[in-house]
Amino acid sequence: MNPSFAKFVRLLGKTRVALNAPLAPLTYMKVGGPADLLYMAYSAQELTEAVRAAIRFKIPYHILGGGSNVIVGDKGIRGLVIKNRADHVVIKHFKGKGKGTSMAIEEARVVAESGVITNLLVRKTIDEGLAGLEYFLGVPGTIGGAVFNNSHFQTELIGNAVETVNVLTGKGDARTYTNRQMRFAYDSSALQKTREVITSITFLLKGGIAKELWKKAEEYAKYRAQTQPLQFPSSGCMFKNVDSRRGTYGQSKKGLTSAGYLIEQAGLKGTKIGNAMVSEKHASFIINTGGASAQDVLKLANLVRRRVKEKFGVRLEMEVFKVGEFY
Ligand SMILES: Cc1cc2nc3c(=O)[nH]c(=O)nc-3n(C[C@H](O)[C@H](O)[C@H](O)COP(=O)(O)OP(=O)(O)OC[C@H]3O[C@@H](n4cnc5c(N)ncnc54)[C@H](O)[C@@H]3O)c2cc1C
Repeated sequence: MNPSFAKFVRLLGKTRVALNAPLAPLTYMKVGGPADLLYMAYSAQELTEAVRAAIRFKIPYHILGGGSNVIVGDKGIRGLVIKNRADHVVIKHFKGKGKGTSMAIEEARVVAESGVITNLLVRKTIDEGLAGLEYFLGVPGTIGGAVFNNSHFQTELIGNAVETVNVLTGKGDARTYTNRQMRFAYDSSALQKTREVITSITFLLKGGIAKELWKKAEEYAKYRAQTQPLQFPSSGCMFKNVDSRRGTYGQSKKGLTSAGYLIEQAGLKGTKIGNAMVSEKHASFIINTGGASAQDVLKLANLVRRRVKEKFGVRLEMEVFKVGEFY
């Protein structure tokens, strides 16, 4: 075994590190090869220890949340993959009028470790009568992945509810970023450049009425289920929506034209390469119809980008992250 890997395994424990571990089952697209090393972190502390050990032994590392926004290459990922399952949540600093259970909550802070499943956090906050995350009911993945990418529902961005983010730098040092320092924008955050690792997030949420929040959240989730091909493996929208100010494309909502609309207008719905297909239901989704390879998915994504560029002069940007080796 590579001597650095051996040191990592010795430090973290033989039973905790899997070698040559298949990654496809850990992703929503269900494609891709193995990781040299796979470690499951069950707390922010374990996540921190694994990242620091990887840095110490000079092993490249990749954080995998829910795997709902990545395509892993067919040759897999060299080095270490840390599957983040750190899922502790604390709700504190309730402010409001009145006392105890009769308090009318005005705001509260929710501190979530980054491996919490987004959907579970949304449910918990709604049950507590806290507003701000209800737009994301039904969005797969972890809250760390959602904040890394500033997940959106239509024009609502998850970054709007974030107060601070705790990260580990490339040297393994702990830092806290304010919302402003995170430089949230549509489908992006500062961390996409720095590649720092989110360990936990503090959300500042407003008081609301649980029943009303549930009603809204269920409407959003229903809309998603009606418009997305949820019965097939996919990584969600493959492409970012397009700034409408760049041209007139015929359909625009609050300054954005949906990538799906452009792909549909380019006549690409149903286009297939191998077992990867442009969804008939939502053209920005590339689905795995069964047994697709990462190469099928990537080739199809490139074909879509070429055709949309030819028809509209627009260069579609990938929303999904490609990780590992493809060839
Ligand atoms: C069916 C379906 C529907 C979807 N609908 C939506 C939607 O409505 N809106 C939306 O915005 N997205 C949607 N998505 C995309 C996806 O669910 C979100 O982007 C999600 O938040 C990604 O989280 P994840 O934990 O799965 O990230 P992963 O796919 O595991 O990782 C994505 C990237 O984030 C990085 N990352 C993950 N965790 C951390 C961390 N702790 N620290 C640093 N980096 C980290 C990874 O390294 C990787 O680069 C959908 C996806 C699917 C499959």
